[in-house]
Amino acid sequence: MGLLNDILTTIFPPPKQYGTLSVTIRAEQVKSHAEQKIADFLSRNGIRYEYERPIEVGIWIFNEELCKPDFYLPDYDVYVEYWGMKDVEEGYKRREYRSKMAWKMKQYERYDVKLISIYPDNLKNLDWIFHKRFAEVTGRELPRKSGRTMKEGINGRDSSQAQNDNREQASPVCPKCGSKMVMRRAKHGSNAGKSFWGCSQWPKTKCPGIINI
Ligand SMILES: [Zn+2]
Repeated sequence: MGLLNDILTTIFPPPKQYGTLSVTIRAEQVKSHAEQKIADFLSRNGIRYEYERPIEVGIWIFNEELCKPDFYLPDYDVYVEYWGMKDVEEGYKRREYRSKMAWKMKQYERYDVKLISIYPDNLKNLDWIFHKRFAEVTGRELPRKSGRTMKEGINGRDSSQAQNDNREQASPVCPKCGSKMVMRRAKHGSNAGKSFWGCSQWPKTKCPGIINI
């Protein structure tokens, strides 16, 4: 039993944080219920993510354990870190964790890494806090889940299918013709430089459907 445990521990190293290994609706294993909650929040909102992707800064790839934030949102180039042990009971663990936390944050700042920090208290109102931090970090609003996604949910698409086209889900439906919409940037006029959703059929059908962001 001891040997088996040793082997298992080698293959599946114990989680580095407090937490129970948990499985997300995407069927991937994460280190804690809290991370699962964040992962599933992202999935449900049609936000694509990668779990524990190393930070890349230009040609440098930070492979150290400390430089793998919990989630990366490739559509926004934003990382998400859950600081689960910030308020852990034992003083020495808390001090060690907080000093690592400060070091990591300094690195992110230094390399201009866009980071959303989530703390244990935030899990209660994750939706609100996530939208707020996203806007602070990126300077834009996180697109709300589209009407199309909700309609598809009612039509009974199963969640694995829904997971396969997260990116598609994140885009709304054209209010004029029902086609998919694509993110565009206004080139002219008073809104020049601002992003908006435009009908994917334009200019093919000259459909004028747009949704301002
Ligand atoms: Zn249209």
